[in-house]
Amino acid sequence: MKSEDDTSLPEWLRDAHAETLGIRAGIARTGEGEHGEPIFTTSSYVFDSAADAAARFSGDTGGNVYSRYTNPTVRVFEKRLAALENAESAVGTASGMSAILATCMAFLTHGDHVVCSRDVFGSTVGLFDKYLPRMGVSVSFVPLGDLDAWRAAATPKTKLFYCETPSNPICEVADIRALAAIAGEFEARLVVDNCFCTPALQKPLEHGADMVIHSATKYLDGQGRMLGGAVVGSAEDMAEITNFIRTCGPSMSPFNAWVFLKGLETLSLRMKAHSENAYKLAHWLTERPEISRVHYSGLVDHPGHQLASRQQSGFGGVLSFDLLGGQQAAWRFIDATVLMSLTANLGDVKTTIVHPATTTHGRLPEAQRSAAGITPGLVRIAVGLEHIDDLKADCQRGFDAISV
Ligand SMILES: *Cc1c(COP(=O)(O)O)cnc(C)c1O
Repeated sequence: MKSEDDTSLPEWLRDAHAETLGIRAGIARTGEGEHGEPIFTTSSYVFDSAADAAARFSGDTGGNVYSRYTNPTVRVFEKRLAALENAESAVGTASGMSAILATCMAFLTHGDHVVCSRDVFGSTVGLFDKYLPRMGVSVSFVPLGDLDAWRAAATPKTKLFYCETPSNPICEVADIRALAAIAGEFEARLVVDNCFCTPALQKPLEHGADMVIHSATKYLDGQGRMLGGAVVGSAEDMAEITNFIRTCGPSMSPFNAWVFLKGLETLSLRMKAHSENAYKLAHWLTERPEISRVHYSGLVDHPGHQLASRQQSGFGGVLSFDLLGGQQAAWRFIDATVLMSLTANLGDVKTTIVHPATTTHGRLPEAQRSAAGITPGLVRIAVGLEHIDDLKADCQRGFDAISV
């Protein structure tokens, strides 16, 4: 899968494991003997001669021209992420949304069609619902796990299949291999938003996806510090993405790239710890009488458990649960917690809690919301890395508040 020129991993890294790649892949030393990766805070680059300038501008030779096009720190991040996803290439972007926008702009034109899973990130729905139609691109939304619906929605004009798996907030799981096969029947590309699992738990390209989207803002950073994103895939497809980014400007900042590099160093460790904490909390929550249902694919009775066990090497940090007392109970529960942060963000070492029906999914029409399983009593927790007993104690404050 890897092409020589693009990943250019040294021989001794080719068979390395994710833990090692996250720390070692992509490093390009400057000759100063530095151990850490330098941050190249420069907008432009100088040339050796007028002829060198001409050659670099024309693309005849490699070499940096301007940081909207390339930056050495961003390049290290791209190489490291590509190595982790077992991909030929990756392109860093200013945010997760700009990674999605770049993918649309690179591969869609007037008259084209997209099939997208129903429960994708809110701003993704906004882009697909509002802006793509203005460009003459139509989008059909289908239930994530309903393969027949994907096939029925596709047309000869369909160019992209787009999904998030596992889904937010109820952890529905899509069969990437099956979706890739259906996309193939229509000569469409399958794009998977891998934000929730990261390559530490799931490598969509190995299951037949064509491209992977990341919001680096989430687990790749891991500490809620920066906005960034990436698209990962074949060298040929990434060249198209790069052309859009270079021309239109949503490039990743070198400082942000450096922070994400630090995040990638601990990604494997963190994703294991997030998964372990989330499993423990999910299991504990199943025993609570105030809850009708816990949504976490690590639980054996979750409908996506078998598939997630095959497709992922862990179940991730996000879980949700339905409180029997509806919205009033959910709000009381959330307001009684003190340790967990009340914020819609996720992928942070700090545990976050949110009421999806009135925040992240609040703009959906009621019918769409309940079709997506987002009930008034649903609470989502993105489990961080605090001690599990402290997280349980915080949830206990929530339960105490609804039993009075
Ligand atoms: C946050 C998020 C995005 C958008 O990323 P930004 O970095 O906020 O632009 C896309 N997809 C998913 C699943 C997300 O959680």
